[in-house]
Order: sequence, then structure tokens, then C-alpha cells
Amino acid sequence: MLKIENLSFDYGGLPVLEGVSETVEKGSVLSLVGPNGAGKTTLLKCIVRILTPVGGRILVDGRDVHRMPRKEMAKHVGYVPQSMPARFPTTVFETVLAGRRPYIAWRPSPDDLERTARIIEEMDMGNLASRDMDRLSGGQVQKVLLARALAQDTPYLLLDEPTSSLDLRHQLEILELISNLSKIKNRGIMMAMHDLNLSARFSDTILMLHAGRIFCKGSPSEVMTSENIAAIYGVEAQIRKENGYIHIHPVRCIHLPASPASGFPPCPDDVRT
Ligand code: ADP
Repeated sequence: MLKIENLSFDYGGLPVLEGVSETVEKGSVLSLVGPNGAGKTTLLKCIVRILTPVGGRILVDGRDVHRMPRKEMAKHVGYVPQSMPARFPTTVFETVLAGRRPYIAWRPSPDDLERTARIIEEMDMGNLASRDMDRLSGGQVQKVLLARALAQDTPYLLLDEPTSSLDLRHQLEILELISNLSKIKNRGIMMAMHDLNLSARFSDTILMLHAGRIFCKGSPSEVMTSENIAAIYGVEAQIRKENGYIHIHPVRCIHLPASPASGFPPCPDDVRT
């Protein structure tokens, strides 16, 4: 399992995460939800060592990720960022092949090349394989970054808003693929999500973050209540269940307590974990 123990992080003394603990089991999907600035991206970046926490530990199958050699860590945890940092031009094929880097000693083996080609085909991107990354749409880039993580072939996969640039069909396609990865290939998935309806539909567990702390966690029906959504987002919402799915229907904005200029905004007293 991927275990986050009492994690804290600050940016130059300004606290962003405090006392976050959670586990991600293989074969399950955990969604991180919460308003902009709640700390979702920061939490994912701490887990994959882009950021160094000021407190707490992250264990992957019992091993502290911050003490693992980077190559070893890359065999255990994959990460799909929201966007790709601008680099020199590479093709789609080269970008997906880069996912095999932890396994490549000197040059890619025929197996690395074959896996890369297969993943690109399976994700219906065969026609883009030789195209430069800087000539893709935002949604296509997002799919390529997911393909790169699939090539990395890790037991745990972290995704930062994997559907934010995708159209409706591709949102469903990608989330079904992610769900199958967990259920069929027994991967542990943690993903930051903005769309509450999609996160309710595709998650086993939802963790609601508020101002860097866990506000509540549980099954989608436990977490997606009108009370929680009002407290966290300042939005009145109606919650319905139809065809086995939870539907969150936002009605209107309501008053939300103002945040102080620095430090954590006030958390409601009834923080449930
Ligand atoms: P979320 O992903 O939930 O929208 P983030 O993790 O991106 O939230 O941000 C959490 C908080 O950290 C926000 O208040 C944000 O302004 C702040 N923050 C994010 N990146 C930086 C940075 N590089 N330097 C300083 N503060 C940052």
C-alpha cells in the first residue's frame, strides 16, 4: 500500500499541508477533491518527491520514498502532471518511451519499443506517434502523459486532474481506463479531481481537502453531501442518486467564511476523518 503519514509542507514558511494521513490500496481509486488552493497538487508533488515535506513520511509497500534511489522510486510510483513543462521538441513516441527510462540500462530494448507502440495504439493515438509534442492540443498532451505513465508500469499511479483538458467522451474513456487499471491490473490510483460528479462515479474513496487539512474522507456517498459541499466550496448543492450514480447539482453560491491573509483559513470544528 501507499501510506501517507502525518504529512506537512510549507512554501517559505506558509503552511500548505498539515497532518495529512491516508492510504491508497492496490486495486482502488482514491480521489482528492477540494477547492482551488486546498493543497491537492502539493500533496501529489510531495509524494513523488518534486517537493520535500517538512514533516511526515510516505511509505510505498513499507519503504520510505524519500530514502529510495530515484530510479527505484520510479518503478513504484508513476505521476501524471496537469501539463508538460516546456522542453526541447520530442515526438509522442519518444515521450511515451521515456516512461520506460527506469528499466532502460543503456538503450531501449525491443520490448520497450514494442510496449510503447502498443500503449500508443491502445490509447488510439497511432496517428500521432511521430508528431512533436508542441503540436498537440491540451487534451492530446494529457493523453500522452497518461500513456507515458502506463509505459512506466508502476503499481501506484498519481494523476493531477487527468480529465481537465479533455472533452466529454475522452473524460469517460480515460476514467474508464483508470478504473480498469485499478480493478483489472490491481494498481493503486490517487487522483486530484475538480469534477465532483466524475470523482463520485469513478472513486472507491474520496478525500476532501480543505486548506491543507483533511476535512473528511469516505465512500462517495459519505463524502458528497450537501453539508460538506456547502462547507468546503460555499455552494448550495442538491445530491441525487440515479441509475446507481451520485449526481451533484450545484444550485447557487452561499456565504463562505473569509480566509485570513496568511496561514490556514479556519476549518469547521467538526472535521471528520
Ligand atoms: P490545489 O491543487 O488544491 O489547487 P495547490 O497544491 O496547487 O492547490 O496549492 C496549495 C497552496 O499552495 C495554494 O495556496 C497555492 O497558492 C500555494 N502554492 C502553490 N504553489 C506555490 C508556489 N510555487 N509557491 C508558493 N505558494 C504556492
